[in-house]
Amino acid sequence: MTTFRTAQVTSPGGELALVDQPLADPGPGQVRVAVEACGICHSDSVFVDGQWPGVQFPVTPGHEIAGHIDALGDGVQGWREGDRVAIGWSGGYCGHCRSCRRGDFVHCEVGMVTGATFPGGYAEYVVAPESALARIPDELSAVDAAPLACAGLTMFNSLRHTGAGPGDLVAILGIGGLGHLGVQFAVKMGFRTVAIARGPEKGELARQLGAHHYIDSTASDVATELQNLGGARVIAATATNAEAITGAVGGLGLHGELLTLAVLDEPVQVSPMQLINVSGTVHGHPGGASNDLEDTLNFAALQGIKPMAEVMPLEKAADGYQRMLANQARFRVVLTTEEASA
Ligand SMILES: [Zn+2]
Ligand SMILES: [Zn+2]
Repeated sequence: MTTFRTAQVTSPGGELALVDQPLADPGPGQVRVAVEACGICHSDSVFVDGQWPGVQFPVTPGHEIAGHIDALGDGVQGWREGDRVAIGWSGGYCGHCRSCRRGDFVHCEVGMVTGATFPGGYAEYVVAPESALARIPDELSAVDAAPLACAGLTMFNSLRHTGAGPGDLVAILGIGGLGHLGVQFAVKMGFRTVAIARGPEKGELARQLGAHHYIDSTASDVATELQNLGGARVIAATATNAEAITGAVGGLGLHGELLTLAVLDEPVQVSPMQLINVSGTVHGHPGGASNDLEDTLNFAALQGIKPMAEVMPLEKAADGYQRMLANQARFRVVLTTEEASA
């Protein structure tokens, strides 16, 4: 029997440990992917901690997967063994529900999620539905592609669905796993980009990422600074800090949109007065499906957008996960297997 290694948690909040599992063949409509790299996202904690509805233990998290197709199940069309593919949070779609029939795959009512519906990418192999696959362009290594599968996709796909146009003021609140990609995407999408973070030392980083402006939230009032720049068309909140988001809302300009992206339980305070005069809105965004991911990867390749990653071998999954939880990752921990191309 052939086996593969996977990092899993056996009970809610438990420690990730490497185990050997039998290698399964993909079923009809599925592919088996040899994982080369997998990013560690903050949202992995909802599975590890057992907060995701219906999640079954043991859990193998990981929804920023880059690798290549190793085996095809019956009926899979348009893909070949060896094709380089990425898989994000959306673990495929049914194609038959009301949302799918309207082409709105990310809101598929079946709600397949990588790492919950099927074991995720902290592993040497993943078996996933073909509808979860996005093609990786040649310009991107697996290590570069992996963080784009959730963090990059969330930034690119949410920003392109706002009303912001070229030259409009777009603020990225927080420069972490999401935000360091958000700044790069916002700049390359043609927005006048403001990075907002805590402390003066992040200013240099913001400039390296291409930001046109930097606001140190520990030294100045974020809302006032944004208004001094003309008011934000979009504030993309990537920080997992409700207080910081609340403090920025007053910086919305005309038709300003507060875009909440970081997964956060705490309420954010917005007064109607902050929205009425500017016709402002508050909304969330779920990331995207595999078609959106493919657009993200192609745009990143076109524009030279790359994550800043700390690469660690799969055996160090528990350490990497702790670095992410402790907010120490600069700016994404990426686990690699022996298949890794980078
Ligand atoms: Zn569906
Ligand atoms: Zn994620």
